[in-house]
Amino acid sequence: SIVTRFAPSPTGYLHVGGARTALYSWLHARKTGGTFILRIEDTDLERSSQESVDAILEGMKWLGLDYDDGPYYQTKRFDLYKEVVAQLLAEGKAYKCFCTVEEVDAMREAQMAAGEKPKYNGMWRDRTDHPTDKPYVIRFKNPLDGVVVIDDLIKGRIEIANAELDDLIIARSDGTPTYNLTVVVDDWKMGITHVIRGDDHVNNTPRQMNILAALGADIPKYAHVPMILGDDGKRLSKRHGAVGVMQYRDNGFLPEALINYLVRLGWSHGDQEIFSKEELVELFDLSNCNRAPSAFNTDKLIWLNQHYMKTLAPDYVASHLAWHIAEQKLDISTGPALTELVKVQAERVKTLKELVEVSRYFYEDFSEFEENAAKKHLRPVAAEPLVAVQTKLAELNDWSVEALHKAINDAAESLGLGMGKVGMPLRVAVTGGGNSPALDATLALIGKERVLKRISMALE
Ligand code: GLU
Repeated sequence: SIVTRFAPSPTGYLHVGGARTALYSWLHARKTGGTFILRIEDTDLERSSQESVDAILEGMKWLGLDYDDGPYYQTKRFDLYKEVVAQLLAEGKAYKCFCTVEEVDAMREAQMAAGEKPKYNGMWRDRTDHPTDKPYVIRFKNPLDGVVVIDDLIKGRIEIANAELDDLIIARSDGTPTYNLTVVVDDWKMGITHVIRGDDHVNNTPRQMNILAALGADIPKYAHVPMILGDDGKRLSKRHGAVGVMQYRDNGFLPEALINYLVRLGWSHGDQEIFSKEELVELFDLSNCNRAPSAFNTDKLIWLNQHYMKTLAPDYVASHLAWHIAEQKLDISTGPALTELVKVQAERVKTLKELVEVSRYFYEDFSEFEENAAKKHLRPVAAEPLVAVQTKLAELNDWSVEALHKAINDAAESLGLGMGKVGMPLRVAVTGGGNSPALDATLALIGKERVLKRISMALE
């Protein structure tokens, strides 16, 4: 059965590129009833941190990318890597190289001066006159001829001549295994059938395949996902704005929107744009992934976010809104339930963050009206309609949307005025500004006491 993995290096937060790779690996496992493994590649001790591990786990959790196995930590698997290095050495598939750094540098410089591609020349490959008192690294004996063929599930067939590949260091002079070795050992021992990763690793793949072959391991299938570009066509980075998954949470996006956005950024199913997770599990297919890089488009992500805010169950949207309420320190104990707020506001905003920003008046009193709205709708023309509507509202015992609707209409009619002449002053009076959901629903949620008090304030 199918086994995929996500293998992040914990050197920062989970960025959207990594999240998309994780998503593709997750989907490929889920659609086939396979296993999805999380493996933390933390062997670079200087750049790795627990903080980054936590940030990656948090990002995956928020996106709902659950794993069946792991997290494994490569730093806890050094014994295994050392065993494999020793095995390769014993079988003559790897060798000790006693070159000093200076010697290797000199080799490179001479090659470059001769117009050749710099490459370790294999000078210790077949030597047996080993010094006993000198440090050494261990190099893999890469095959000298033949070609490595990657039948990449996304990029198609890629061929690399072995003559292009030098003998890779698999263990450093202090005995620690190198990156390519640990990946190979883990992909082998974890029974990975599909390696889905960013195409920045495509150069490592032939080397890794050679080591796997030397170990007698099954070679997984590879799918290299093209990178994500910013709006200027350059590789997506911080310069372009938010790149961390949790930054999108902070900016008010729903995980459903980001998932839908990321999956489409590099994969398509006809011209369908909206996909639930269940649909993706059914429809996702690596063979429909783009070969070319895709450019990140924030407007499209916003469009998807609006779609999900409007269409997902208000209770569910409210559960995500709660985080933003806390973040913006809004005390909601004296106002409407968040589900009710979602029902009236979700279709009016782009993000959950914005939803909170434009909803303060439901929970907090204000001391000033928005200047332009007040100038236009409150003073000095609106005293009469406001008094009329205040009178009607004060009489109301039933504070339902329907009753409110009728009361506002009645007030307008009694003065022979159109709805706008009553509605806008009322809106500015009770919300402080000129934008709000439908007045009847807005008044219903603000509550009678506050509404009457605010009208009085507007009349002062
Ligand atoms: N740890 C590598 C990275 O974060 C990924 C290695 C792999 O997927 O093979 O770039």
